[in-house]
Amino acid sequence: MEKSNIGLIGLAVMGENLALNIEGHGYQVSLYNRPHRSGPEMVDVFLENRGNGKKFVATYTISDFVGSLERPRKIMMMIKAGEPVEEMIEQLIPYLEPGDVIIDGGNSDFRDTERRYRYLLSKGIWFVGAGVSGGETGALHGPSIMPGGAPEAWEIVRPFLQDIAAHLDDGTPCCSWMGSGGAGHFVKMVHNGIEYGDMQLIAEAYMILKSHAKMNNEIMADIFEQWNRGELNSYLIGITSHILRFKDSDGSFLIEHIRDSAGQKGTGKWSVEAALDVDEPLSLISEAVFARFISRWKEVREKASVLYPPEKKEGKEHDLPSESVRQALFAAKLVSYAQGFSLLKNASELYGWNIDLSSVATIWRKGCIIRAGFLKEIAHAYSGMEKPENLLFNDWFRDHVNNALPAWRKIVSRSAMSGIPVPCMSSALVYFDMLRQKRSGAALIQAQRDYFGAHTYERTDAPQGEFFHTDWTGTGGNTVSGSYTV
Ligand code: NDP
Repeated sequence: MEKSNIGLIGLAVMGENLALNIEGHGYQVSLYNRPHRSGPEMVDVFLENRGNGKKFVATYTISDFVGSLERPRKIMMMIKAGEPVEEMIEQLIPYLEPGDVIIDGGNSDFRDTERRYRYLLSKGIWFVGAGVSGGETGALHGPSIMPGGAPEAWEIVRPFLQDIAAHLDDGTPCCSWMGSGGAGHFVKMVHNGIEYGDMQLIAEAYMILKSHAKMNNEIMADIFEQWNRGELNSYLIGITSHILRFKDSDGSFLIEHIRDSAGQKGTGKWSVEAALDVDEPLSLISEAVFARFISRWKEVREKASVLYPPEKKEGKEHDLPSESVRQALFAAKLVSYAQGFSLLKNASELYGWNIDLSSVATIWRKGCIIRAGFLKEIAHAYSGMEKPENLLFNDWFRDHVNNALPAWRKIVSRSAMSGIPVPCMSSALVYFDMLRQKRSGAALIQAQRDYFGAHTYERTDAPQGEFFHTDWTGTGGNTVSGSYTV
């Protein structure tokens, strides 16, 4: 039998749709899903339904699966991250040969990918950790794909990965090489972190419009639709308008029946952990992750809402125009992307990945969940010879943040006065104000550290790197603590 071009493992929602996408681009695909003790095999179920009559080869053992592939073998795994990936790699190894490629398309932790890349390299097998974003529709019609790992594998997998990815109007595929080791999964993790931030920001805007401006769902849906035609144009704003209009079977709005406890699968939390590892103040995404944690304290929140009922409101209720909310949302979103890209930049330098930030912004323009019109500006900002140290230093960003600043401050302060929590809009404003603060309160922190622990300080009138200690109380000695920073 003719050998297949590509092998795909895992026929859950993502694998099934990716298989159809790959086959639809003219490739013959061998399929494998771990055997089930009871019930029909997933491969058979798929081939009897959506896969019927297409160029798929069903396999039921790893040896048949690997044996059905042309060399060098290209095997894409779309299975649950963690232990399953570990186990599947071990099952594949005895059948593979040097030069074969394993692609992990799941949401794996980049540290695992880094480790697996090195482990497989020692066996001559190229490992690629490829973040895939776009959900089931993206997987079927063209996701954004973020591959990284063994550079030797790129030319082998590039044609098919770029074929199945989304394409911009000018034909650019939303798939390019992110860097060695765990770079691809790192970029996907940051994508998901930014997604957490975007979703929380939209939820904050929704709560301001609903609770403060007392708008109904139809009006809010109209507003999000209108926002989607402007600077905020993005997939998430678009679906928000649709969600707000969506009616349940009894004609009521479905959103009103959904429990306000948000789930999470870990990539937001990983982004925050990764940021802590590289000293990155990723405040907005952190707040978005914390907001999901608090949302799950449903019973605690109910008790607290009885203990602390809303205070009597001062001033007018209807004085927050939706345009101000839009500007606050947009400005905070700009800060969020500035933080996310700063994390990518600094992690890339630390881990030696050489991630091209312009490419990242470009491949996020279509196919993925955070796709948005303004990513074009980010791609542009990083495409020149002079890369901005922080996106907020770029002219386009500066103009838009300055323009939105008065409305942003108004929304954050009025929300605080009204008891409407806006953790991401306000943490973004705090980050912005701290970033541009010429002299901060850290001088006092250094003085306190030196006062109680002889941790020393630097002086404004002496070269940086020269450390001083003061005997603040007259009872201390001259011994100082090491002046390192952790
Ligand atoms: P799941 O994350 O639910 O994973 C289910 C698949 O993993 C099934 O094929 C399952 O096989 C297989 N599996 C589970 N445990 C093992 C194991 N021990 N050994 C072998 N195979 C195993 O499916 P999704 O399609 O949602 O996601 C696949 C990957 O893609 C995940 O890493 C996910 O995080 C990622 N992803 C998901 C997105 C989404 O929108 N759903 C978007 C982007 C990425 P079985 O049928 O036998 O249980």
